[in-house]
Amino acid sequence: MPDTARRIVLASRPVGEPNPSDFRLEEFPVPAPGAGEVLLRTLWLSLDPYMRGRMSDAPSYAAPVGIGEVMEAGTVNEVAASNNDKFAKGDIVLGRAGWQTHAISNGSGLRKLDPKLAPVSTALGVLGMPGMTAYAGLLEIGQPKAGETVVISAASGAVGSVVGQIAKIKGSRAVGIAGGPDKCRYVKDELGFDDCVDHRAPDFAEKLKAVCPKGIDVYFENVSGPVWDAVFPLLNTFARIPVCGLIANYSSTEWPDMKYKTSQIFRAILTKRLTIRGFIVTDFAARHADFLRDVSAWIKEGRIKYREDIAEGIENAPAAFMGLLKGKNFGKQLVRVGT
Ligand code: NDP
Repeated sequence: MPDTARRIVLASRPVGEPNPSDFRLEEFPVPAPGAGEVLLRTLWLSLDPYMRGRMSDAPSYAAPVGIGEVMEAGTVNEVAASNNDKFAKGDIVLGRAGWQTHAISNGSGLRKLDPKLAPVSTALGVLGMPGMTAYAGLLEIGQPKAGETVVISAASGAVGSVVGQIAKIKGSRAVGIAGGPDKCRYVKDELGFDDCVDHRAPDFAEKLKAVCPKGIDVYFENVSGPVWDAVFPLLNTFARIPVCGLIANYSSTEWPDMKYKTSQIFRAILTKRLTIRGFIVTDFAARHADFLRDVSAWIKEGRIKYREDIAEGIENAPAAFMGLLKGKNFGKQLVRVGT
């Protein structure tokens, strides 16, 4: 085992889009586990949009990463050494080791993974936090019914891809919104959505209207910005809008000038009896076992497909993360840190 570990720390708080100088690669000695502790070696690192929020110190639902601290992340790790009865050397675990090659844990919050059940990287994607977000947000808040139209933004991504496929399983019509023809083709041809519209096309709003002739019953909001502006007038009476993410705004330094104003939105909430509900995936922790059972079965049956976008090496995590915020990822963004 090498005696030098590497980590990416937050060097400065970004103003607007993050820059390479906001991150710093550091080397440090591989730590030794103390009594009751394990040494984790990182295999897979998950990159997720919420990390942009952790880089800022604006008030949020979670505390920010401090300057000089390791960037937070969900990880899949191998137990490289163990002084903890519950874990043996060689175990593969899901944890939160952050953007680093090695970390010490006292075992709390680690979950053992069985590599025979599914590729372990899926514990960060389709069978992990993003998949759970899709499952719970759609079924608990969206409540799609057979024949209804469900529209999903960021449809080729980790969350959106699962939302649309579950909507299809529930008998709804699934319409994706994605950036560019390649992603739209994938959403329709590979994932089996009924349609997909490119939000970068100049006639995006007209195209969305054309593929939603009966309006929109559920809008799974991952994006906000101009995408929301196009969706809003198409919402049907009693539409449900799980508000999952607002990635178009994560690096904004001022409130974007949206087409529809608060009073118009409130009027629609009243007259169309809209349900608009924000959620954080942990709100639905009680559904986690249901999620694992259902989505594992749907993957086995070929009813849910997934795609991973893999960056190689911890040193490439900042570039992959900055790409994720700009739509450069195609599928769940991971970093292969070790093998
Ligand atoms: P994705 O894998 O979907 O990657 C992000 C995608 O967002 C990009 O690929 C890009 O897709 C799209 N995007 C970025 N900027 C814009 C923009 N300005 N306008 C339109 N689309 C944009 O990420 P995830 O699936 O991991 O996350 C999707 C959303 O879900 C995020 O908003 C995230 O914060 C949220 N989330 C919320 C959770 C919760 O608990 N509430 C938990 C997990 C995720 P494209 O090229 O198609 O535009």
